[in-house]
Amino acid sequence: MLVQQIVHQAFTSNTYIISSEKEDDIWLVDIGNFYGVLENIGNNANVKGVFITHYHYDHIYGINELIEKYPNCKVYAAAHTIEGLYSVKMNLSFYHESPIIFNGSITVEIKENDKIPLFENIQLQVFETPGHNTGCLTFKVDNYLFTGDSYIPNIDVVTKLKGGNKEANLLSLAKINSMITPQTIICPGHFEMSNKSKDFI
Ligand SMILES: [Zn+2]
Repeated sequence: MLVQQIVHQAFTSNTYIISSEKEDDIWLVDIGNFYGVLENIGNNANVKGVFITHYHYDHIYGINELIEKYPNCKVYAAAHTIEGLYSVKMNLSFYHESPIIFNGSITVEIKENDKIPLFENIQLQVFETPGHNTGCLTFKVDNYLFTGDSYIPNIDVVTKLKGGNKEANLLSLAKINSMITPQTIICPGHFEMSNKSKDFI
């Protein structure tokens, strides 16, 4: 299994490509820079699904280009996040030049402890980590932990936006901390992937 990080220069937000040497299926975590994704996946690649950590604009703004190119791609997210994909006020794109309303309809509501098979013997596990936003999810695949904006190494979690909650965030950070082992590779919503562990709380 391979995890690649695609960065959007303006927003610094990350999209992650999860692929396998043996299969053409591709999975994504968040979808900012879709063209950056396209450049990095082969022509035979088939994007099966995207897992959304939360609905803020910088993590979803490539979603319509993605669905246009891969109409069968499923969008996996928390119920609250799915709602926000269709609301420019919730996803904050209201304040940007090109507001985002999701054009697609293939959404899959996911919640705590759901397990979605990605490849043979590899599955993605879902953890609810609210605090930055109500619908924030963290995803675990193998040794990789996709934390979105619920945990970015060396950066204080933003809890002041609508849907943010400081107390919930502290519980989520403790939960994320308990999942980290020396082998864990943290894949945050912004900035670099990191394998520094057990030192953030
Ligand atoms: Zn955010």
